[in-house]
Amino acid sequence: MERWKGGQAMAHIVVAGAGYAGMLAALRLRKTRAHQVTLVSASPNFVERIRLHQTAADGTRVESPLTRLIAGAPIGLVLGRIAELQPARREILLADGTALTYDRLIYALGSQTGTSAVPGVSAYAHRLNNPDSAARLYAALLERHAGRLLVVGGGLTGIEAAAEIAKRHAEWQVTLLSAGTLGADLSPRGQDYLRAALRRKGVSVIENQRAARLEADRAYCAGGAVESFDMCLWAGSFEVSKLAAQSGFAVDAAGRILVDAALRSISHPEVYVVGDAAASGLRMGCATALPMGAHAADSILADLDDEPVQPHRFGYTVRCISLGRDDGLIQLVDPLDQPRDRIITGRPGAVVKELVCQGTWYSLEIERRLPGAFTWNRAEVPSSLRPLPSLA
Ligand SMILES: Cc1cc2nc3c(=O)[nH]c(=O)nc-3n(C[C@H](O)[C@H](O)[C@H](O)COP(=O)(O)OP(=O)(O)OC[C@H]3O[C@@H](n4cnc5c(N)ncnc54)[C@H](O)[C@@H]3O)c2cc1C
Repeated sequence: MERWKGGQAMAHIVVAGAGYAGMLAALRLRKTRAHQVTLVSASPNFVERIRLHQTAADGTRVESPLTRLIAGAPIGLVLGRIAELQPARREILLADGTALTYDRLIYALGSQTGTSAVPGVSAYAHRLNNPDSAARLYAALLERHAGRLLVVGGGLTGIEAAAEIAKRHAEWQVTLLSAGTLGADLSPRGQDYLRAALRRKGVSVIENQRAARLEADRAYCAGGAVESFDMCLWAGSFEVSKLAAQSGFAVDAAGRILVDAALRSISHPEVYVVGDAAASGLRMGCATALPMGAHAADSILADLDDEPVQPHRFGYTVRCISLGRDDGLIQLVDPLDQPRDRIITGRPGAVVKELVCQGTWYSLEIERRLPGAFTWNRAEVPSSLRPLPSLA
């Protein structure tokens, strides 16, 4: 049986992925210096993914060097793309051939914009996957100067991008195409505000039309409608890496790793899974990724100390939607994410949204200085007992 207590050998904890969940986990693992922590990242930078629509609209850069985020912390940093996992050997293989073994792994590889379900997306649409792809959209908007931009996807990414681009580029005619009812998870007041705000910004909204195929200048919808465009931004859904499924982890239909109440892989319990990569019962978001990262770190330290591991509990409080930087919609929700009647809108909403964005960044900075400081709202019901949200 593994024993790490009482001065026996250090455990090696590898954190795979340096997004919101992985960063918070790596920083928090330093609550004790008893174990060796290695952070593996494909990128040398931490990317504030929740601001990528800002890069697309005005070129704002939203990344910072990982070396700055972990400055002074005893965390080993390995830069490289993980190409393969060998869970039976507790080993990670990087694309350059480097092999890393672990005693515990935190899998935090996040998600990307989904491209596989709809033909033509990779060839004809821009995506907000990383700062470079967002910057390419910005350059393209400037280069062409004016035209029709079709934003496909009525989720947070699509709404925020459509509003921000319409606000900054009045010469572009922006249309938002949503497969369902826009803002279906908001209160009636929230939905009304969202529609009115988009209208004020000149964004045309088409609802209940699912794009099924893209060509160079048009989107074909499942119901037969055709939408022409000069440029398309695809924000239709998120999809996760196929690595987990290919490596033999138990995954759901979308490829997210199935986890128990403590966020351990049900097929490989020495692997904790956090953020968008986990089929955890929580919606994908940095709001859920940070607490999951913190919980995984706490659980691993408890587990290595032979302490009982607790279920992850998370209670929602708000949904924050940026509608251009002068307008925002804050939908208050109950701990299970059901909308309350109360909303905060307009400039106060934009201020709250900006504070929330800054808060995610400062959460990491504070955790760097004071490991263990990050705290969150915990619901009565463990997250894993909730129904799994869809990826759309
Ligand atoms: C425009 C936009 C706006 C958004 N707004 C909000 C919002 O307002 N609120 C909210 O809660 N959520 C929002 N989201 C969603 C949020 O960004 C994600 O849910 C969140 O980033 C998930 O965090 P994560 O740590 O799981 O993964 P990520 O942030 O995706 O990080 C994953 C990390 O893993 C690394 N990685 C991936 N594959 C490999 C590999 N093979 N090898 C090595 N490293 C790898 C990546 O480089 C990255 O560093 C938004 C997303 C977008 C795109």
